[in-house]
Amino acid sequence: MERKISEQLFAEAKQYFPGGVSSPVRAFKSVGGCPLFIKKGDGAYIWDEDDHRFIDFCCSWGPLILGHNNAEVREAIIEAVSNGTSFGTPTRYENKLAKLLLDNNRFIEKMRFVSSGTEAVMSAIRLARGVTGKSKILKFEGCYHGHVDSLLVKAGSGLVTFGVSTSAGIPEAFAKETIVLPLNDTGAVEKLFIEASPDIACVIIEPIPANNGLLLQTKAYLKELRDLCTKYNILLIFDEVISGFRVGFEGAAGLYGIQPDIVTYGKIIGGGMPVGAYAASAAIMGSVSPEGPVYQAGTLSGNPVAMAAGFASASQLLAPGFYEEMEAKTKRFVKRLEDYCSMKGYEVSFPTVGSIFWIAFTKETISSAEQIDPKSMDKFKILHSELLDRNVYLGPSGYEVGFISAAHSEGLLEEATAKICAAMDVVFA
Ligand SMILES: *Cc1c(COP(=O)(O)O)cnc(C)c1O
Repeated sequence: MERKISEQLFAEAKQYFPGGVSSPVRAFKSVGGCPLFIKKGDGAYIWDEDDHRFIDFCCSWGPLILGHNNAEVREAIIEAVSNGTSFGTPTRYENKLAKLLLDNNRFIEKMRFVSSGTEAVMSAIRLARGVTGKSKILKFEGCYHGHVDSLLVKAGSGLVTFGVSTSAGIPEAFAKETIVLPLNDTGAVEKLFIEASPDIACVIIEPIPANNGLLLQTKAYLKELRDLCTKYNILLIFDEVISGFRVGFEGAAGLYGIQPDIVTYGKIIGGGMPVGAYAASAAIMGSVSPEGPVYQAGTLSGNPVAMAAGFASASQLLAPGFYEEMEAKTKRFVKRLEDYCSMKGYEVSFPTVGSIFWIAFTKETISSAEQIDPKSMDKFKILHSELLDRNVYLGPSGYEVGFISAAHSEGLLEEATAKICAAMDVVFA
């Protein structure tokens, strides 16, 4: 497949941007080759600059649960933008979106809009520290929470490891405030809390960890984490930037029936525009400026165009049966892949929840980051390239999950299944 125009654009982009991109995974480093420059999306399809059409399972990394160029979202954006793009004042659009979100979510009472998932997480951590007056935070290995300084920290192999940063430019003193533990191990959490709870402000977790493979946790584990936080007076933050509005309108909190103290949102909440939010009880949110002492602000926060897109998208998600259908469709898709690969004896499995799936090159159930064999990524690299040649687009990293949108029809998913199976034959040849 010729990708001449993408190659030219990428060569040009390298003169302007580090690695030629505005966000690192886009550079195709882990799969090799040239990133596709996309010029258009519609429904479940994207088109690259060289005019190839792909079935898209990346969906802008999750936000586009309704598919590309959804008519209602597009119309809402056009209507909002015709009145101007930003005022730096409150607008009716914020009320409208917040009312819709809060009225339909039992786990949050008040919220604040920001412009990205990272910003939501950063603000939630500050809020937790402000409310508790404590400074340390606990995160889990394999959970990604955006590029927040104190959260770009990965553990060594010890049971309790005080953070060593995985990025340059983060002072040791910041990393020290972050404790990292493995997922799926409440014993380690309780041991830590017994020793250090007076210093720990919050625990942050992706209740459905989906940024390092799909590391599904059990409801029992999450429930126990909740109980431990309550017992030791530590706030529990659910980072629902991916799972929010994806596994149900109330996200993972609703799916598992677990009440977090603070929730962060991003991705789907903006209907494809840059929006994030953090939310909590009215009491906790009362600590946020100007009501309380925890400062947080944003020039473009609650942007009317973005709010209109979020509203138009979220209202469609509330249609009866929306999530049931998404899940059923995804299960059928994954089952066909599983059946084919088992029949062929391929070492691969397809963990799934809601409309998220992951391609794991193992038959083992994976629930923590260190279980993933880095060598399995060689297989993903072949798969990715074979799929591009068959006009199927996956996010360019084997650690990333795939997303199915409402625009992925049954017929399209069958077509994609045949292509993925054919690509698997090459991977395992
Ligand atoms: C994507 C993501 C973030 C970061 O959001 P950005 O909008 O990329 O800043 C944070 N947490 C989780 C769980 C995410 O998936």
